[in-house]
Amino acid sequence: MYQALYRKWRPRSFDDVVGQGHITETLKRQVQGGRLTHAYLFTGTRGTGKTTCAKILARAVNCQHPQDGNPCNQCPACMGIENGSILDVVELDAASNNRVDDVRAMLEEAAYTPATVAKRVYIIDEVHMLSPQAFNALLQILEEPPAHLMFILATTELHKVPATIKSRCQQFAFKRIRAEEIAGRLNYVAAQEGIELTQEGAQLIARLADGGMRDALSLLDQCVGAGGTVDQDRVFQVLGLAGNLQTVALLEEIAAGNLSGALARLASLYTGGKEMAALAGELSALLRDLLVSKSAPKGGAGLLTGGYDSGTLERLGQLFDVPRLVQMLALVQKTAGELVHSANRRTDMELCLVMLCDPSLDGSVHALTARVAKLEQQLASGVVVQQTTSEKPLQRSPAPTPAQKSTQPEPDLSTPVASDPPPWEVAEKPVPQQPASKKPLQEKPMQETPAPPAVEPHPAPPEPVTHVSGQTGWPGWNVVCGQLKGVLSTGDYTFFSMPAMLTGRWDGDVVTIWAANQFVADLVEKPDISGAVSQVVGRYMGQRVPVKVQVGAPPAETVQTPPTSQPPEEGDALDAFLAAGHSNVIVE
Ligand SMILES: [Zn+2]
Repeated sequence: MYQALYRKWRPRSFDDVVGQGHITETLKRQVQGGRLTHAYLFTGTRGTGKTTCAKILARAVNCQHPQDGNPCNQCPACMGIENGSILDVVELDAASNNRVDDVRAMLEEAAYTPATVAKRVYIIDEVHMLSPQAFNALLQILEEPPAHLMFILATTELHKVPATIKSRCQQFAFKRIRAEEIAGRLNYVAAQEGIELTQEGAQLIARLADGGMRDALSLLDQCVGAGGTVDQDRVFQVLGLAGNLQTVALLEEIAAGNLSGALARLASLYTGGKEMAALAGELSALLRDLLVSKSAPKGGAGLLTGGYDSGTLERLGQLFDVPRLVQMLALVQKTAGELVHSANRRTDMELCLVMLCDPSLDGSVHALTARVAKLEQQLASGVVVQQTTSEKPLQRSPAPTPAQKSTQPEPDLSTPVASDPPPWEVAEKPVPQQPASKKPLQEKPMQETPAPPAVEPHPAPPEPVTHVSGQTGWPGWNVVCGQLKGVLSTGDYTFFSMPAMLTGRWDGDVVTIWAANQFVADLVEKPDISGAVSQVVGRYMGQRVPVKVQVGAPPAETVQTPPTSQPPEEGDALDAFLAAGHSNVIVE
């Protein structure tokens, strides 16, 4: 019959116990010196050696030839206890024997002296599971114990053990075993068993075991069952952690701002049956590990999930600073929380990736903090933020009167914005110092520098359609987007609120929408979304119009003075506003 590795390789003497030297040395000295007490309480997380040490101690106190405080494991007492033929050592699982009657029955027989060995030993595992009455019965005998009795209580939840019990026991706190010590033991067991175990495989199992030797050996057992060499990939595969490698790749794409790559990876994971909530959880765990290892590089090792090796964490950690990690973690956590109630989890996750790739889209306090921190860092490292305010021509002047309007081109408010990018963009791409003779960009005539769509201002709040009644013509993309707000779901509308994602043009026959990537194009091509665009534009044009979706950037516009008697062919929200008869409004 196959014996599980953790049973087969359970330590049989104190010297074999790994990682609890502070306890085993004390117990050995007590056995050697005969200074044993009648009640011990072993505490600590699962798999750290509490029950193992209890069994060793039960043999050691009864052994006929103890060696340095260790049981010999060869005398009749040791062997009888080990194979269960000596009934004076009793193991009790309080989880299944927690009633007061169980304890009473046990205590009745405790009154008799042991039949074959020196001490009758009771090992009570998970002692915190005892009922209050059972604890009281136990307390009675702990108060006046017969000399031939010894109790070894073990618990993973010390706070549930009554203080009256604790105060009558000698307590030993078992520590989580360090990963290096577990890996060392795994290598030893593997060598003895003829298992091919790589160094990386041993370290990964050791980290995943989270300080528990029993878990580590059980994990090794699982990996061996699949056959072949146990290396890192095998461990990931057997334990269903292959997603960790995908999560690392996803985070690398986020770091590079590679949105299309990240969305493509998400799509393939989704198609492969990946639960979006699980993905959010894994991403969150990785970000947390990065945050811990970056914030507490020395002491934080014990706090890590163990799913990633230190090399990976170090490499990824260099890609992000702490405020950015906080922002990303907050965003992923928020998304993970909302996924539970979401009707379309995939879209939620995609939105999350969009905002992870471009933190400027995330308006949370964490995101702003991260961006300010980045700015401060860049300033500290000597990047000069160009002071442009004093050199700029007056950006905003009163709107032209109707008379002026008939002779002057439409004011293009997006141009000053284009020459005045937000400071973090300036800091990211410092503009080389221009020769003094060359004219600064801002002083060129506005018509020569049409605003790229990426920096268009956000669309104005939607105008009620009544403002344009009686007028026909293309209202401008921003007006269309404004009208779509409230028509589309919030998730879908988000893409229309980002000029970098979607830009629309009217070429006389058809509305062409330029999407930043295939994913966004597919979204817009859905009948309910393209239909909504067609309907909104139709309200201005007097009839439903066809909508075409293309991937890529729109071709450069040829600038021409718009005919004064007609509404502008291409413009922004203000253009439409002015054209609709509000040209006497003063813009501050
Ligand atoms: Zn012995």
